[in-house]
Amino acid sequence: MEIVNRIPRMRSVARRLHKQGKHIAFVPTMGALHEGHLSLIRHARTLADIVVVSIFVNPIQFGKGEDFESYPRNLARDAELVASRGVDYLFAPSVDQVYPEKFSTYVIVEDLGDRLCGLSRPGHFRGVTTIVMKLFNIVQPDFAVFGQKDAQQAAIIKCMVRDLCVNTEIAICPIIRESDGLALSSRNTYLTPEQREAATILYKALSNGKRLFDGGVRDVSTLLLAMRQTIESEPLARIDYVSIVHPDTLEELSVIEEGRKALAALAVYIGRTRLIDNMIFGESPVVYDDEL
Ligand code: AMP
Repeated sequence: MEIVNRIPRMRSVARRLHKQGKHIAFVPTMGALHEGHLSLIRHARTLADIVVVSIFVNPIQFGKGEDFESYPRNLARDAELVASRGVDYLFAPSVDQVYPEKFSTYVIVEDLGDRLCGLSRPGHFRGVTTIVMKLFNIVQPDFAVFGQKDAQQAAIIKCMVRDLCVNTEIAICPIIRESDGLALSSRNTYLTPEQREAATILYKALSNGKRLFDGGVRDVSTLLLAMRQTIESEPLARIDYVSIVHPDTLEELSVIEEGRKALAALAVYIGRTRLIDNMIFGESPVVYDDEL
């Protein structure tokens, strides 16, 4: 595996690979890698000859007072981890290369980026789409793999790729969870043991909603109330939002029509740590053949 720090080097590698007729699958991350990221890498390996992983903690997707400075960074450990998983190139550029002085061009997906997490994190998705577009332009991937953990991000990236005719196929992989249901996240490392215990409330709330849905409840306010009540039963938890939306448009639903899918999504503060999770109602779990 080669660690690439310079944008021109990454560009010339991509150009050479394409000339050789190779296909590139790309997994963008912010590092502090865990099994969730590794599942994306496994899937990427089934899609193309060459796998490129990027590690870049993107300053412009963090708001004032958020955790850009304290976000966990450990490139040496991450590099070792991905090298053993068949990754060909690890692209880890510096902030000043990616955002030179007077940087002033952004990619904005209207509407989708203003909902759910966009309400409490204004500008977040503008930062995400801008860095993803930049990374796509540098890495020139045939495929890019994202996690359903960030369902809104996935919907926004798919919209951006469609709207801007980006020549990259987007794959979305299922959420990887701890055995007690907590979705893996680099931010879980912020939690004290007591908070870690309390954090299972996100999955419990989604599971309660899903249980009601599977039992035939289609009225969204009933489902939301049950999920909210579950979270409110945990003293360490504070709700940012709990929503049930259309999985692609992210529009709020009032009723889930028969045979339709809905995305139940939530963001909850456990102490000062904001965690997100989601579940699709009306879908049997996806199993990828590379995980069997
Ligand atoms: P991040 O490093 O948090 O920016 O995440 C990089 C990619 O990993 C994103 O596409 C995330 O959706 C995905 N990801 C993060 N956590 C998980 C998880 N628990 N299961 C599956 N994918 C994940």
